[in-house]
Amino acid sequence: MVETLSIAVIGAPGVGKTSIIRQFIYNDFSEVYTPTRTRYVYRPSVILNGNMYDLKILDVPPISSFPSSSSQEWLDLRCRGVRNANAYILVYDICCVESFEYVKMIRQQIVEHREGSSSEVPILVVGNKRDLQRQRFMPRRAVSVLVKKTWKCGYVECSAKFNWHIILLFKELLGIAVARGMRQNHTSIRLQGALQRNRCTIM
Ligand code: GDP
Ligand code: MG
Repeated sequence: MVETLSIAVIGAPGVGKTSIIRQFIYNDFSEVYTPTRTRYVYRPSVILNGNMYDLKILDVPPISSFPSSSSQEWLDLRCRGVRNANAYILVYDICCVESFEYVKMIRQQIVEHREGSSSEVPILVVGNKRDLQRQRFMPRRAVSVLVKKTWKCGYVECSAKFNWHIILLFKELLGIAVARGMRQNHTSIRLQGALQRNRCTIM
């Protein structure tokens, strides 16, 4: 049986969300900034160590806050499917402190607004534009410790421009899903053993 995993990619405008997704799926990158105005869904199938998964990746346009209720989600087309995602990728630009503040706010709202045990949903924080790291606002280690130890989220830095750590970040997210899925026995994210041999193919 093919497992389906819906992943919402959220972050401030211009941090590189669309670039990360397009680099992952199409090996494509554009220097030209085309703001994402409406929600876009990508549906790649991924083979990870011999198992196939259908991913539903939501490229979420700028939202002022995480939808606090199902009705709020339905009123705003940009948010459709965001509350019930199986996992989140929260992207910020390592050179832009405001984009990190935005991720901090969204992470807090996910924990507060998702109900019960679903607030323990896998979240991966991604610092993009690693190629510009001389202009970063905070040392990598300091952010990593804050995100992993205090927020209890995964942390990866990448460069969509140079396709650096892009596959790794999706594998990292699935890795968190595996760990949480096994603990909560969540059927849609049962990926046991899938990451052990470190292979990933996009179909
Ligand atoms: P989004 O609004 O978060 O979807 O951001 P986009 O993916 O549209 O990217 C915004 C701008 O940042 C574009 O001009 C991209 O070319 C640029 N960009 C995205 N990723 C990187 C990166 O890793 N390094 C650099 N230097 N620029 C990037
Ligand atoms: Mg975009």
